[in-house]
Amino acid sequence: MRFHDDVAIVTGAGRGIGAAIARQLFLEGCRIVVLDIDESSALACAQSIDPAGHRSLALSCDVSSKDTVARAFLRIAEKFDTVDILVNNAGITQDAMFHKMTLEQWQRVIDVNLTGTFLMTSAVVPLMREKKHGRIINISSTSAYGNVGQANYAATKAGMIGLTKTLAKELGRHNITVNVIEPGVIETGMLKTVPQSIKDGWLSMMPIARMGQPEDIANAVCFFASNESSFITGVELPVCGGFLIV
Ligand code: NAP
Repeated sequence: MRFHDDVAIVTGAGRGIGAAIARQLFLEGCRIVVLDIDESSALACAQSIDPAGHRSLALSCDVSSKDTVARAFLRIAEKFDTVDILVNNAGITQDAMFHKMTLEQWQRVIDVNLTGTFLMTSAVVPLMREKKHGRIINISSTSAYGNVGQANYAATKAGMIGLTKTLAKELGRHNITVNVIEPGVIETGMLKTVPQSIKDGWLSMMPIARMGQPEDIANAVCFFASNESSFITGVELPVCGGFLIV
């Protein structure tokens, strides 16, 4: 086991990459908080990884809402005595070419992906500072480097990289590491609406020409969450089959 009862919070963990992260951290010895905007998927995920429910907590939480984040942390404090690991995974897309993008599309993606990361991180940092230990892992995207039709999403994912590096500089002296993972093309519901011709184009640019799986991201998260990475902070790790090689 890599972890010994560490408490890990994973946002957007009802399905997709977040569910795989929650499962793997649990299997490696963590107690798990499964947060998702959709309560039923959070409950289903927690139930599937921990049927007895002793080492997990499923909560509905919209990370973009200060109030629901505050309520979630009250429930977390009732069940668990500490927080060791935060994975800011919840993220959405609302794609459009920039000249057609509405303020609503821009704002909602900023609110969930970037402000959600701010709110969740703000809630755990005091706990981690007091404990003098913590691991924060942000899930960005290769789209942070620009992607047609994703000005809003790319801005948030690039923002997460800047936030990660700044927090790493500020929090290192409290023994808190902050790192960011950039998934490439990962087979989840998020890609359902992307036409196959576009996916084929992406695959042709990847030295490892397969779709990534949620477990590929979960493996990288477990590394950053564990003591194996205790001297690594402020690092960007693309997990993308070589998509970002220039
Ligand atoms: P996904 O399958 O769409 O799952 C995202 C989960 O987050 C869903 O359960 C969703 O709930 C939940 N969620 C949405 N808005 C939320 C909110 N405001 N508060 C809390 N939870 C919320 O996406 P995924 O592919 O697993 O992506 C996970 C992360 O990886 C995202 O940050 C994404 O940007 C990033 N990423 C994914 C890929 C990829 O190829 N899949 C590539 C690069 C980066 P609902 O289903 O109810 O909306």
